[in-house]
Amino acid sequence: MGFIQSFGAVETVTGSCHFLQLNNGPNILIDCGYFQGENIQKSDQEFNFSPKDVDIVLLTHAHLDHVGRLPKLVKEGFDGKVVAMRATLDLAEIILLDSAKIAEEEYKIALKKAQRTGNKKRVAQPIYSSDDALSVFDLIIQYADYNKAIQLTPSVKVTFRNAGHILGSATIQIEISEEGKTKSLVFSGDLGSCLDIIMTPPTFVKKAHALYIESTYGDREHRPLQESIEAFKEIIISTLENQGNVLIPCFAIERTQEVLLLLKQMYYDKELPTCKVFLDSPMAICATQIYNNYHNDLNACANKLLARDGSVFEFPYLQYSLKKPESKLINREEDGCIIIAGSGMCTGGRILHHFKHRLWNESNSVVFVGYQVQGTLGRHLIDGADSIQLQHETINVKAQIHMLNGFSAHADQSDLLAWMSEFEQLDNIYLIHGEVNTQETFKETIKEHLHKPAHIVKYAEKIHI
Ligand SMILES: [Zn+2]
Repeated sequence: MGFIQSFGAVETVTGSCHFLQLNNGPNILIDCGYFQGENIQKSDQEFNFSPKDVDIVLLTHAHLDHVGRLPKLVKEGFDGKVVAMRATLDLAEIILLDSAKIAEEEYKIALKKAQRTGNKKRVAQPIYSSDDALSVFDLIIQYADYNKAIQLTPSVKVTFRNAGHILGSATIQIEISEEGKTKSLVFSGDLGSCLDIIMTPPTFVKKAHALYIESTYGDREHRPLQESIEAFKEIIISTLENQGNVLIPCFAIERTQEVLLLLKQMYYDKELPTCKVFLDSPMAICATQIYNNYHNDLNACANKLLARDGSVFEFPYLQYSLKKPESKLINREEDGCIIIAGSGMCTGGRILHHFKHRLWNESNSVVFVGYQVQGTLGRHLIDGADSIQLQHETINVKAQIHMLNGFSAHADQSDLLAWMSEFEQLDNIYLIHGEVNTQETFKETIKEHLHKPAHIVKYAEKIHI
């Protein structure tokens, strides 16, 4: 029938990109993601296939490591169709524009520095511009609905199912018919956990001749969510009662909305002391609006809050800081605030000026609710730094630093195994989107629990179907 090659998210967790080439067409790309962390330079490299040969792109969800290289694909000749959930494309637009803006700003700074040293030619152009990012939305777009099959060609149909990971996230089943036989190929996408603050649990799939499954946390279990929620509440209450401020470095998508939902719930449960809550991130404000628009895809708890006062996230204490001057004004606020700002790992963004103004004060708390990659300022803080350097200034770290591990948007080992065991037919298992050590452990666990072999996919390896 054809074969699949993976050009990203192989033995690593970023750069998702899987190319399905069918003998009778079409050529389908599943995700086209950015490489991050130590693999970031790969984002700029060649695709190792011709973007002109791709007929259709299917998107599992809007995270940058799944959609981030779409503008590059278009720039290099892709002119086909994109099939995705409507929420995914709404979120992808803000993600791609944000990433283009960061790349353009970094380019300008690097160029200025290079001009001063006479090395102008050595500065690489940004991977894509804001215009390139917008060009993705000029393509032909077909919106998917959960559980409704789309006939892509007479012999190929696809079905998107809720993956429970972030808004719009999908597991994609591709069914290919040839000479009276039909094969089912399933890409799990990033899977959410069964218990989530805001999302509904992932939908099970019944049949896969080949399953490409993510394995980000294939070797570990998360701290129970409820424990993290209780710890979160305790930190908020005790800090505010001691006239301190709570700083929450947050990813704009999903984690911010989870934090807002918890705070709103605390407000209605009369657990939240009177305070001002600032959402200080234009991208997070925009994403929150999109989440609110698609409330039908959120869980019962989110919809209960919506039914109560007409909004999933807004409540009387919450204020949005859209413009930079509004963000600066927060520094003059009296103590007793909660400030939610990006970036999630403190590598840039408005959280930095809040650190400058509040990190030195022992009454304040910093609450990390997302994973902090090695080498980031966030990681430095949770590893116990006594002081940090911000804009050539040394800032003492006296605030209480907390790391809450239970807020993951990813399934852990038990979640992954439970999802896999719901298949009635599961012939071949291929592991993608995981570090290689994790995948080795997960492979053994699958063997032990499901009595099936699993294969760790290598870069560009041809898997025939
Ligand atoms: Zn993701």
